[in-house]
This record gives sequence, C-alpha cells and structure tokens, in this order.
Amino acid sequence: MLEARTTSSFIELDERQLHENVDFIRTLIPESTALSAVIKGNAYGHGIAQMVPMAERAGIEHFSVYGVEEAKRFQEASSRDSQLMIMGYIDKVNLDWVLEQSYEFFIYDLLQLKNAIDCAKKLGIKAKLHIEVETGMNRTGIDEKQLVGLTNLLKSEAEHLQLCGLCTHLAGAESIANYYRIKKQKIRFSRYLKYFKNQGIQFERRHVACSAGVIRFPECHYDLVRVGILLYGFWPNQETLIEFLGRRNEKDDPLTSVLSWKSNVMTVKEVERGEYIGYGTSFLANKATRIAIVPVGYAYGYTRSLSNQGRVLIHGQRVGVIGTVNMNMMAIDITEIENVQVGDEVVLIGFQGKNRITVASFGEMSSQLNYELLARLPQNLPRIIT
Ligand SMILES: *Cc1c(COP(=O)(O)O)cnc(C)c1O
Repeated sequence: MLEARTTSSFIELDERQLHENVDFIRTLIPESTALSAVIKGNAYGHGIAQMVPMAERAGIEHFSVYGVEEAKRFQEASSRDSQLMIMGYIDKVNLDWVLEQSYEFFIYDLLQLKNAIDCAKKLGIKAKLHIEVETGMNRTGIDEKQLVGLTNLLKSEAEHLQLCGLCTHLAGAESIANYYRIKKQKIRFSRYLKYFKNQGIQFERRHVACSAGVIRFPECHYDLVRVGILLYGFWPNQETLIEFLGRRNEKDDPLTSVLSWKSNVMTVKEVERGEYIGYGTSFLANKATRIAIVPVGYAYGYTRSLSNQGRVLIHGQRVGVIGTVNMNMMAIDITEIENVQVGDEVVLIGFQGKNRITVASFGEMSSQLNYELLARLPQNLPRIIT
C-alpha cells in the first residue's frame, strides 16, 4: 500500500496469478510453440513497466507491441534479452532505431518493405521481418495480387533480410458466428504457406493465433502464438469461456485476473424513497436507499456504459453501481451493507474476500468490453506488484 496516495484509485498486480495464467496457457500449446506476450495498450492497462519484468520472471522471452513508443517502454522495462515484435505502425523515421535494436516487425505492405530494405542497406543491419499476409480480415497485410512483387524483393534483397515470420490475424476467432469466415482465413493462410514453400522461401516461424485462436483453433498454433487477454486472466468473451469449459466438462474458470483495481468510499449518504440519484432520471430510489460515493468515473477509465450496470465489492459483498457513472465519481448501493465508513476499500475489479469482480461479470455487454476497459485504464494510476 502506498503511504500517501494522490490518486483516487490504484491498481494491484498479483505476480503469482500471472505465473499461473502463463502455466495454464502453456498447457494448451505444443512445447515447440513459442508464447509471445502481447503488451500493447500499456499491457492491456496493466502497465508495460510492471508487466515486462513480471512476465520475464514467468519465463516469457518474446513480447509483442503495436508501435515504437511501446517498444521504447518495453526496452526500459526489460532486463533480459527478450525479443520484441512490433505488430503495427512504424513511421519511416523510426525504422533506423527499430533495426538498431534488432527488434522484429510486421511488414504489412510493399512500400514499408522497400523502406525497411533501404534502411537495412544503409545501416548494414539485417531487418528482422514478419510478413503479414491478407487472409480476409481486410485490415493490414499483403495479398495474393502483390505476391510476385513481394517474392522478387525477398529474393533479390535476401542478404539484407531475416525472415522471422509469416503471419496473419483472425477476424473474430472468439465467436462461433464467425466460424465460416475464420475457416476461409485458415485455408487462405495454408495457400500462402504452400506458395512460399514452392518458391523456396523459408520463414523461421509461422503464426496466426491470438488468445481465442489458442483456445478454439489448435490447428492454428503453428510456431508461435500471440497471446494478450488470457495472460492477464480474462477471456476474449464469455462465449469462449463457456465453450472451453463445456468441451472439458469443467466448471471453474482456470484463469484469474492479475489486476485488481481498488478505490475507497469518499462519502456516504441516505436517500429517501421516491428520489432520483445522480444526474437525470436514470435511477429512481423505490425504497429508502443508502449509497456510497466512490471517486472513480469515466475520466479514470470506468466506462459510462456501466451506469446502472457495474458491480463492485465492498465489505466482501457484491453491490451495484446506481445512476450514471460521472466523469470523476459514481454511486454504489450499500443499503444492505452494515457500517460502511468513509475510506472503506471498494474493489472495482478483482477479489475481496471470497468474491470476485471480473470485467465479464458486468453483464451483457459488448464482447470487446474486457479489452476496452483494460486498455483505457489511465497510465497515471499507481500500479503496485503484490
Ligand atoms: C491484439 C492482438 C493479439 C492478441 O489478442 P488477444 O485476443 O488479446 O490474445 C494478437 N495478434 C494481433 C495482431 C493483435 O492485434
């Protein structure tokens, strides 16, 4: 616990849980498949500075980010010679730096490949590439029409390039509704593999799977998996968890969140029956209601869509958010909880006693809520490893 906190909430990271999640993920993939820890979005809100050393202690040797700013934060945090892969945008002016660090990066179009080659020649350093191919997500990636141009460059400039990977990304592997689309992507990826084999071009690793791919498509594990959300102890969506448990005939979620997000009661108030609580008329007290105000709101990443929906823990019990989530505070219903005092701990995510708030337990929300809520946790919240 920090002595004098200047923030109205803080994040605790449970290193042991991370190790357990990593061990669980390893049981799902072949031993020869590398596990890359995806730490984009400030390590899904957990903090790159904290997550990298924790993950390294859990045996992770490969990390994935989206851009150069994250790569720099990775570099500051890493104390081993872990490998880094940049999956997204790199401005041309930053290519020198990326090559000098020996970081791997995605090539998602030919112009970027040409820039990388120029840079490699200029510096006399091989560019470590992962060729991202288009298989149907239609976001980034090189498609079949560009294969001849790509192949020519890869062959003629081979001495400047290290072909670390051939990869693609699945467009919604977490949902059975996308089954057919994913199936087509898998077939299309196999065609690229065959094409490059026939061309005599070899890649060190083939990789396709994110968390949902790891869980649902073992045939996509290949040589490396890029895992984000599972590491942190969350499921891509509820459907993936339910399907997984059903398949194994198990009941208990094998993952536990690494992160807890905590705050304290700011003030307590009694509201009479018939009064509205908070802005507008979204919550009407239909009985005498006792509320506690918690100094967390959407400015701190507690999304407004949790108005009248969110759940938090206080005195070990689960209670609801009532009224709209404001910019800097929200109200929770403590009518049934005895003796709530100013300063009492409120858990927004994580454990208190035997109860746990998972982001998924917030209810019927968008499947992206886990990701979005985590990624929006402000960088300036203190993050404490326990
Ligand atoms: C975010 C991302 C991942 C990891 O996704 P999770 O669902 O969190 O495992 C993997 N690959 C790419 C290209 C990504 O953008």
